[in-house]
Amino acid sequence: MLKRWIRRSLPVLVLTCFIVLYVDFQLRTSRPPKLRAHLDPPPGALPRATPAGRRTGRHPAAEGTHVPQPPLRQEDIFIAVKTTGRFHRTRLALLLETWISRTKTHTFIFTDTEDEDLSLRGYNMVITGCQSDHSQQALSCKMSAEYDGFMATDKRWFCHVDDDNYLNPEALLSLLSNFPQEGDIYVGKPSLDKPITAHELLEGNATREVRFWFATGGAGFCLSRRLAEKMAPWASGSRFEQTSATIRLPDDCTVGFIVEKRLGVSMVHCPLFHSHLENLLLISHSSVPQQVTLSYGMFENKMNSIEFKGSFSKEDDPSRFKTVHCTLYPFTSWCP
Ligand code: UDP
Ligand code: MN
Repeated sequence: MLKRWIRRSLPVLVLTCFIVLYVDFQLRTSRPPKLRAHLDPPPGALPRATPAGRRTGRHPAAEGTHVPQPPLRQEDIFIAVKTTGRFHRTRLALLLETWISRTKTHTFIFTDTEDEDLSLRGYNMVITGCQSDHSQQALSCKMSAEYDGFMATDKRWFCHVDDDNYLNPEALLSLLSNFPQEGDIYVGKPSLDKPITAHELLEGNATREVRFWFATGGAGFCLSRRLAEKMAPWASGSRFEQTSATIRLPDDCTVGFIVEKRLGVSMVHCPLFHSHLENLLLISHSSVPQQVTLSYGMFENKMNSIEFKGSFSKEDDPSRFKTVHCTLYPFTSWCP
């Protein structure tokens, strides 16, 4: 009796299990990515200041209604690289040879020294009038030029990297494509495990304690155009350096301050950005192709770089950037 019941019900049970698993899988794969995004302007935020005619495909009558944007393309991303004259032949040359060779038309190199050779080779060089040192003022001056440079274009995203970053353009595109394209997005990785505390200068020399997250500049970060436009009252022209002076902190902290404290938008913490302030040995070999940025640098007299076996020895490729590049793009002419 029991046997007969089991024989009859078993196929039904198996079929039910299958349907449940199938529906669950469909729901999981169709869910939007778990990214904290801010679509609505926070209370007190400025109205959108969209320069007339700058953006394509959006009709004024469509304001407020959802108009789907065309899929994001590589050329829609403005990539700003911060460098300085004495690094043109060393750090920058390595980037030009590797990832910038894939993103040349939409990568803009912000420096402090003319370089006829690079201009003649067709790179977008922006010679800022900024000082060439590592001071807070000099670095804020360059970030300000990067921001203004982006605002003068019609690109949809602004991304900043330092000249010791490898940027994977495909990984970046797929990350940014997952965000609502009309959202207020500030994405990157903090170097601290808690928000930074700043003392904001007020009128009459008073100060106020403020806490906020910021994406470390040495790991790279991105801003959506809509958010960048809202930042203008504190970031455009001479205002970025003024804001930086108000909190007496460097350029990357200033971006975090404007976004989180002036606009009330929270940073999106993303583990795919990497600076040499973290232990780069912890990045697994198999995850390297998915990382958006990598870095390298000296830490306690030792090289901090990713562990990545491949085409080049550690002596020939201490940063591992050439080895990563040849793994991502094996048909590059100089790859073994
Ligand atoms: N930089 C600069 N002027 C300098 C030193 C550095 O513009 O005198 C730039 C450099 O090109 C890089 C960024 O600032 O893009 C960070 O510099 P670095 O990696 O040397 O220092 P970190 O802040 O990462 O320790
Ligand atoms: Mn660095």
